[in-house]
Amino acid sequence: MNKIDYLRISLIDKCNFRCQYCMPEEEKLNYLLSSEILTKSELLTLLKEVFIPLGFTKFRLTGGEPLLRSDLPEIITEIINLPQTKDLALTTNGYLLLEKAQLLFDSGLRRINISLDSLNPQTFDQIIGNKNKSRWHKTWAGIQTAYEIGFNPLKLNVVIIPEVNDGEILDLAALTINRNWHVRFIEFMPIGNHELFSEKAWIPSVEIRQQIKAKWGLEEAHITGNGPADIFKIPDSKGTLGFISQMSECFCDRCNRVRLSADGWLRPCLLNETEQIDLKTLLRGGINTQKIRKKVAKLLLLKPEINYKERDSGTKNNTYYRTMSQIGG
Ligand code: SAM
Ligand code: SF4
Repeated sequence: MNKIDYLRISLIDKCNFRCQYCMPEEEKLNYLLSSEILTKSELLTLLKEVFIPLGFTKFRLTGGEPLLRSDLPEIITEIINLPQTKDLALTTNGYLLLEKAQLLFDSGLRRINISLDSLNPQTFDQIIGNKNKSRWHKTWAGIQTAYEIGFNPLKLNVVIIPEVNDGEILDLAALTINRNWHVRFIEFMPIGNHELFSEKAWIPSVEIRQQIKAKWGLEEAHITGNGPADIFKIPDSKGTLGFISQMSECFCDRCNRVRLSADGWLRPCLLNETEQIDLKTLLRGGINTQKIRKKVAKLLLLKPEINYKERDSGTKNNTYYRTMSQIGG
């Protein structure tokens, strides 16, 4: 059985963007009350007394938009200082990096993923649901700032949507040629915006890869990370290209992660809506952490079975009702 040692932690469900594929503007989302969100202290108790004793050593902070959380720098430092932490990374939309990247670096963070679906300001604004002054330039400046400060690895997450940004595959891939940046193409999933998904469908990684290969050639990068990405590089380039093919390939057998939502639900599989544990209610109800740990251990044992079961039924019926921002992408 795969060792499950990687926890993705959503710190907040709110976001300053409304990406079409994640939390479309037309859709009314019921945000959590701040009292429903795990506090820093509750999160650290769960890490120290539940997850770390069960063997978790790798953590990713995400959301919603994690940079909206005011205690993010303290959370980073506390997690980095846990002796068992082998790896801490953050996923952000990058909009607030211009002002916050240095603070995050000083707090101890080194690994960062920034979502960037377009190099065209108009397309970018269309994707993120922005109707006011373009937000692309500030996001781009934030990415540059993070690079100059020394975040390494710096990864860019890209979701390609047919007829929206599929004309930019080569431009986005080219970012890796002269910079030590790592572009990750993530297949569009039927989570969040079901209408957009049915209307536009999705592009399999293999097609994206073929386009890039036809232009420059592609070689395997022989890198194994925490994740399910297949990693390649354009010959002689500084950075790499990753393809995360959760729609076209089943990598459940390689899956080493579980997800903790901002309101404390532990979710063993991204595509599973049923088997979850409400850790916040247990913790606030005064259940001792040893008992909580036992429940989590039991859920982890079930994970391989859950992965396969839900993947099949979920994909056919489009039954994923929570958005990535709610689950913790
Ligand atoms: N707000 C941060 C950001 O955008 O990077 C972190 C949270 S976001 C939910 C994490 C990742 O989920 C982003 O890279 C986003 O592109 C991805 N995502 C959201 N909805 C998706 C969908 N329906 N299909 C594929 N990826 C999705
Ligand atoms: Fe916000 Fe990230 Fe979702 Fe976009 S993908 S709406 S930035 S949480």
